[in-house]
Amino acid sequence: MGGARMANPHEKPQAFSRELCDSERRFRLLVEGVTDYAIYMLDQNGYVTNWNAGAERIKGYRADEIIGKHFSVFYTPEERAAGLPERALGLALKEGKYEAEGWRVRKDGSFFWATAVLDSIRDDDGNLVGFAKITRDITERHNTQLELERVQKQLAQAQKMDALGQLTGGVAHDFNNLLMVVSGNMQRLKRLVSDDPKGARAAQAIETAAERGASLTRQLLTFSRRQRVNPQSVSLLERIQSIRDVLTSGIGTHIGLDIDVSPQTFPVIVDVAELEVALVNLVLNARDAMPEGGTIAIRAANTTLDPDDTVAGGEYVALTVTDTGVGIPPDVLEKVFEPFFTTKPSGRGTGLGLSQVHGFAHQAGGTVRIESTLGVGTAVSIYLPRATPPAIASRAENGEARLQAGTVLLVEDNPHVADASADLLEQLGYAVQWVADAESALRAIEADRFDLVLSDIVMPGRLDGLGLARLIRQRHPVLPVLLATAYSDAAHRVPNDFPILRKPYQMHELSQAIAKAARG
Ligand code: ADP
Ligand code: MG
Repeated sequence: MGGARMANPHEKPQAFSRELCDSERRFRLLVEGVTDYAIYMLDQNGYVTNWNAGAERIKGYRADEIIGKHFSVFYTPEERAAGLPERALGLALKEGKYEAEGWRVRKDGSFFWATAVLDSIRDDDGNLVGFAKITRDITERHNTQLELERVQKQLAQAQKMDALGQLTGGVAHDFNNLLMVVSGNMQRLKRLVSDDPKGARAAQAIETAAERGASLTRQLLTFSRRQRVNPQSVSLLERIQSIRDVLTSGIGTHIGLDIDVSPQTFPVIVDVAELEVALVNLVLNARDAMPEGGTIAIRAANTTLDPDDTVAGGEYVALTVTDTGVGIPPDVLEKVFEPFFTTKPSGRGTGLGLSQVHGFAHQAGGTVRIESTLGVGTAVSIYLPRATPPAIASRAENGEARLQAGTVLLVEDNPHVADASADLLEQLGYAVQWVADAESALRAIEADRFDLVLSDIVMPGRLDGLGLARLIRQRHPVLPVLLATAYSDAAHRVPNDFPILRKPYQMHELSQAIAKAARG
């Protein structure tokens, strides 16, 4: 048959063109039937000349609505304004092909994430016939990718905060022991130079510097959550009112302070001292953001949070400090909770304020969130979990079982710290016996009578301070034990009924802690 056709000079082109028509028709049916890809053609100027089922599905236009329209309608207004459609055509013309990924617009105005290829089509003589465009909707894949990136970033951030926490915690621990030695010996020196005004002034300056050092390391410890805190159920209304004057005096007269805490606000369980430091940090940041004046609002309100990677869901109190200040640029916002991150000139900022706030919120079982708009202001919210009624029964007896001066067994492995502590105890009127580890302490307790044991928590040897305290409670239930630490992870294991003293401590703090231990 083919041979017969070949023999007939008139039949050949006819049959050939029918075959061509057939194959063109099949091809068109194929293209038109494809629904996963938008496949369509543009003329030389970018006007749509045909349209397949995929294009209709993805972009929402029927063929009769879109044929004859310019393909720039698929671009976002911004991209149109930036001349992107013309550039795409130009490049496809020059290179033969143009590929892009980006948001495209459907007929209903909604967006989808597209990958698109634009090919220029030429006839056998090389004249431009038009363009073929193939577009695919990969919104889902794109969103999954974005979500993955977000989670990875969050994880990296959490790891970074963790690493910084370990680092700062370690530094602060060593630093606190040094400060203990400085301030302990300072109190001894002060007595020695008390008749010499110059000496006394110098001693006072050193002491003030040591106190400032102690308050900085305390912020670091809060950030690293290595600090043993004394959580108690508190009313935010009362707490905020009680430091109102401190806050007002810190912000100056050109800034207004507006406090709004509903009396219905749930109680929360926090360390009061840390809460106050956090509030002061937030208010001072707000002040610094408003050199021209403005208003700081402190609000507390009950709220519920959905559980996420940072927080367990449930009932919370949101404590929010809002300012009308300069705001924080987005690239800075990511870093503000990092220790030592500051945008303030040296001497003005330490970069520890928000780190303390972050550590405080998380240690209290909550979280902190920040929102900021450049030129409008910033709101930092600390979310604190609602306090459930206390379950811990106190061993406190009624009436004051105050410890009078007596003998203290001091358990401390660092001889310099021991020396400084012994000195403070002696000034409080106690006789002191010092041992360097828990085993020696146990032997001493069997041999002599003591009125109180003051022990460091982290010590070399089989038994640490907590182990020692537990053994003493078993064997000598009436002997009060006071634990002291510069920080330690071990401190977190200490149940609430053992009082804890933070190093470095001042005489009055030691005296209060002893009284508490004796009551305990
Ligand atoms: P510091 O105040 O010592 O710089 P912080 O940890 O308190 O350290 O704050 C870190 C940085 O976060 C600040 O230097 C500032 O850039 C930014 N910041 C914090 N609070 C605000 C605020 N309310 N408004 C604008 N910027 C703020
Ligand atoms: Mg600050």
